Amino acid sequence: MEHTSVIKRENQQTKSHLPSIYSLTFEQLKNWIIEQGEKPFRATQIYEWLYQKRVTHFSEMTNLPKALREKLSGHFDITTLKTLVKQTSKDGTMKFLFELHDGYSIETVLMRHNYGNSICVTTQVGCRIGCTFCASTLGGLKRHLEAGEIVAQVVKVQKELDEQNERISSIVVMGIGEPFDNYDELIKFLKIVNHAKGLNIGARHITVSTSGIIPKIYQFADEGMQVNFAISLHAPTTELRTKLMPINKAYPLPKLMDAVRYYIEKTGRRVTFEYGLFGGVNDQLEHAEQLAELIKGLKCHVNLIPVNYVPERNYVRTPREQIFAFERALKKHGINVTIRREQGHDIDAACGQLRAKERKEETR
Ligand code: SAH
Repeated sequence: MEHTSVIKRENQQTKSHLPSIYSLTFEQLKNWIIEQGEKPFRATQIYEWLYQKRVTHFSEMTNLPKALREKLSGHFDITTLKTLVKQTSKDGTMKFLFELHDGYSIETVLMRHNYGNSICVTTQVGCRIGCTFCASTLGGLKRHLEAGEIVAQVVKVQKELDEQNERISSIVVMGIGEPFDNYDELIKFLKIVNHAKGLNIGARHITVSTSGIIPKIYQFADEGMQVNFAISLHAPTTELRTKLMPINKAYPLPKLMDAVRYYIEKTGRRVTFEYGLFGGVNDQLEHAEQLAELIKGLKCHVNLIPVNYVPERNYVRTPREQIFAFERALKKHGINVTIRREQGHDIDAACGQLRAKERKEETR
């Protein structure tokens, strides 16, 4: 498996690769423009071409002087992800497999809700967190994505929606990878998609989820961003959490809860705890009681995720009745709780199942 991707990488090395212009925040682009001796308003024009008109060549930016267009194409690429696979589920969910410039591939999911279209983006090629239930971490981490490669997923899918006159209204950073393991690129990505002159996706319509890299939670709290924040909790005790998520050894639950409390105090915002229900492991009523005790008094919301079956993993589903009983037990304690609606099940687009890359390599 590893071997295949190495060969592929070498083959692609010859292809020239300039920095992606999608990696530049508006301020960075403006500074670059000024350094080139150009007028700052050119940055606005370029952002409009990139994110509102969504062109894929600098030559299309017809209100820019030719010399500037040439300078831009000498310095930057407009990342165009190549669509390798596009699948549509019965419920309208779409899953894309995109190829990056170096031959690696990533997945992006588009979900259709009655309140709008939401996109689930990938932040890394693979993942090194090692959660025992997750398919994304099976092949380890290959590399981080640049901000522009995360932005490009949104632009690319938006271009698909343009044909139907529809708009991406929200983003969840819940695809492959641990966003806080690629922190700087994540923050740039958030600024770029949120910018009023760019895609203009409201911060309150963006959600970032982490497995719990504690120092980054503090840093994130201090960023002053209005985005939604979710923590993959999955267990109410240190012991159980370590069994499910090895990251809990480095960043144990009590310290994680301190960081979460800091986040809530600092931002005044509500956090979401994601709690996957793994049959017979963490889904008993005693776990619900422990969970209620752990988070009582916190400004939070619990999202219960029925486990998605991953062939390489041994976890089984919690029976429906048990899921409802778990939910009731939390509600009894006044906890705000929902059960995640599953989408895209028939195309393996559900949480934790994004693994087409490995599959593709296995069948090569
Ligand atoms: N790395 C980040 C972003 C991934 S978000 C994080 O851990 O939060 C995807 C969510 O799906 C996480 O809460 C993750 O723990 C959960 N997940 C992963 N595999 C799953 C599976 N097989 N069944 C249900 N949820 C799963």
